[in-house]
Amino acid sequence: MDLGIAGRKAIVCAASKGLGRGCAMSLAAAGVDLVINARGEEALEATARDIRDATGVTVTAVACDITTAEGREKVLAACGEPDILVNNAGGPPPGDFRDWDAADWRKAVEANMITPIELIRAVVDGMGRRGFGRIVNITSSAVKAPIAELGLSNGARAGLTGFVAGTSRAVASTGVTINNILPGRFDTDRLRSGFAFKAQKSGQPAEEIARAAARSIPANRFGDPHEFGELCAYLCSVQAGYITGQNLLIDGGNYPGTL
Ligand code: NAP
Repeated sequence: MDLGIAGRKAIVCAASKGLGRGCAMSLAAAGVDLVINARGEEALEATARDIRDATGVTVTAVACDITTAEGREKVLAACGEPDILVNNAGGPPPGDFRDWDAADWRKAVEANMITPIELIRAVVDGMGRRGFGRIVNITSSAVKAPIAELGLSNGARAGLTGFVAGTSRAVASTGVTINNILPGRFDTDRLRSGFAFKAQKSGQPAEEIARAAARSIPANRFGDPHEFGELCAYLCSVQAGYITGQNLLIDGGNYPGTL
């Protein structure tokens, strides 16, 4: 399907690996020029090269921490007038809420709530003036069904979700859509580090925990970041202009509810 966004410009945050990389690759395949970001320069440059080689689009790599004001300024300065913004950052660590103090909470809220809100604030009115904008936030299935050991993520992402619910409607008449994609379990470094955490606590091998986790999903497997990226690219398409303020689960059927 021609997504109608060839020649558009996108910022994809936290995109050297995993889900962010999947989104960047799928947007590039649709002909979108990219500014991609991550902290580690080597992996980021390698991803930028892979995307250029695979698609021929222009990819600008900006190595910085997107959860800092300076990082966000650098990324925004590299893009000029973005048509598409994909918000993403590393997820907070797992643990027991009894061990987290106010500083831990501030870090999680800064990364997974304030950072995407600040980026939306920076771009949304320009998109509206130009009559087209697509904003996609990578959140988590934990927004719909909380995961006990990911309390920092459950809390911070719920705040972003509430903000998006209101703001997406406030800007809908300007041609800008804002949606959240809620990943279930995707085979990325982040997922594997969660199994390592559980292995450490339980003494069970991480591979065994991973196999059991995959079997517990109705699709009987983890998701592929490419599948995630394709949904993101669709939400950024011309065709998806009437989808806004939504929370789209992509989880192999793992969430058990009817709605
Ligand atoms: P991943 O494979 O570990 O990749 C994370 C990417 O983000 C890397 O490119 C990393 O590069 C970059 N990054 C991390 N912190 C950053 C920062 N402060 N500034 C800029 N870039 C940063 O993780 P993932 O699985 O794709 O997860 C992406 C998001 O989805 C996370 O918030 C995660 O919690 C959430 N999520 C994932 C799953 C899943 O199953 N994978 C499920 C639910 C939610 P550098 O480290 O070099 O910066």
